[in-house]
Amino acid sequence: MLYIPDDLAPDTVALLGLPTDESSSFLRGPAMAPPRIREVLHNGSANLSSETGVDLTREPRFHDLGDLDVGAGESTRSRIEEAVTDLLQRGIHVLALGGDHAVTYPLVRAYATQYGTLNLLHVDAHTDLYDTFEGNRYSHACPFARIMEEGLVTRLVQVGIRTLNPHQQAQVERFGVEVIEMKDWQPNLRFVFDGPVYLSLDLDALDPAFAPGVSHHEPGGFSTREVLSIIQHLDAPLVGADIVEFNPVRDPVGITAMVAAKFVKEIAAKML
Ligand code: MN
Ligand code: MN
Repeated sequence: MLYIPDDLAPDTVALLGLPTDESSSFLRGPAMAPPRIREVLHNGSANLSSETGVDLTREPRFHDLGDLDVGAGESTRSRIEEAVTDLLQRGIHVLALGGDHAVTYPLVRAYATQYGTLNLLHVDAHTDLYDTFEGNRYSHACPFARIMEEGLVTRLVQVGIRTLNPHQQAQVERFGVEVIEMKDWQPNLRFVFDGPVYLSLDLDALDPAFAPGVSHHEPGGFSTREVLSIIQHLDAPLVGADIVEFNPVRDPVGITAMVAAKFVKEIAAKML
């Protein structure tokens, strides 16, 4: 079980590793991501300050809970949802490290129970809106279909998309998803929400030149700087987030791990 110290400050932002990749359709590897991200976060090659001036080493409200025992099979989703519900009830906000993108469904289920209105900002090359993928309704290609079917969020805004096919286009229309395709991206675009926001960041939103350590290389994506800018200019309270789909198997020089660690710092700073 997860050890949660009972003296954590209110509004703590907790890192929580979710080492699971059973719902991946193409390659395994993301289950190895959380320890790899922690390793580069703490290996001394960079400090733990965000660009916005938050030093995580001095911030009492930043805490690493380690990895959740996610088990296997069907139980993984309920384990994630239960653990995150428990944390939210204690006033702890979660920055989850995937794992593949299937983790976002149980994460958002837990958040939706705690927040009456919740906006979801989803940064990804893919919509992950498949009704079912290769016979699996809980594939990493499907979490946002499950979230929208259950009405868990007020708005779903997807950014960086560059893989729309007719089925996904139909799902976008069915669920009223706001999609900003990569081909229509403008650097000065700002995201305004009138309530709390949960950010789900799939690293394949970045161009593979910046983040090759992902299972699905999709050229023509964001630079690291553009994603940092989206995070830093987000004009709403950021109450939860996940960084998913880092695949260490495809990251021989460790650059993608470092990109993920950079996002940990900037997202945690924004949440704090
Ligand atoms: Mn995804
Ligand atoms: Mn993706």
